[in-house]
Amino acid sequence: MRRPLIAGNWKMHGSRATVHALMSALRDGVSGFDALDVLVLPPAVYIPDVVRLADGTGIATGAQNVGDQEQGACTGEIAADMLVDVGCTHALVGHSERRALYHETDALVAARFAAARRHGITPVLCVGETLEQRERGETEAVVGAQIDAVAEQAGKEALAAGVVAYEPVWAIGTGVTATPEQAQAVHAFIRARLAEHSGHATDVRVLYGGSVKPRSAGELFAMADIDGALVGGASLKADDFLGIIARADEARSA
Ligand code: PEP
Repeated sequence: MRRPLIAGNWKMHGSRATVHALMSALRDGVSGFDALDVLVLPPAVYIPDVVRLADGTGIATGAQNVGDQEQGACTGEIAADMLVDVGCTHALVGHSERRALYHETDALVAARFAAARRHGITPVLCVGETLEQRERGETEAVVGAQIDAVAEQAGKEALAAGVVAYEPVWAIGTGVTATPEQAQAVHAFIRARLAEHSGHATDVRVLYGGSVKPRSAGELFAMADIDGALVGGASLKADDFLGIIARADEARSA
């Protein structure tokens, strides 16, 4: 059985003061949730603070991106071994904001994924279609190509060692959540595609992301192929994030 994973993407929000306040609430709130994994993804400058504040809580710390190259002349990038050095265990790759605002291609995302794996970081590969692509019936073609690029460039074993987050672009930050049935259909497709690449696909956790809130989380987590959530806005409010964690714990024990 796959262990649920609830990940909070803080995006480009916060200050040292808000990071400390949020972590202090999460430290108290997560105790007792021993059968699932919790991950927070702060802005890079706050990673060392978060690693320190998470010490002893079981909360893992990740980065919102990872360099595709080894250390060298790549101004503005952060190499995977640097993330390891400061205590990161995970990194997002291919978040739709990176793909849309910073023109990251499937090939670049795959190179970031490969670099993370070379250094033992667990990449969280974000995939998902835009509203226009969904309306044109291209969801599976888009998501399939995003996964295939990683399998081809990083390798099938690397792919099977990561996490996949299905994040329909039209649901991110919009308040519109995919219905549990819509999400489950794409999650089942993702799991089948992973299985075509690797026999270990049944172990890969596939998270749903897109306006997840405590009130919508329970019915999403009840679906067979939804193993947790990548949470944006609601992860900045301790009560909401902890509420989503509680829904995952209830679904696990149901
Ligand atoms: C995200 O940024 O990955 C995300 C899912 O955001 P939100 O929950 O705010 O839609």
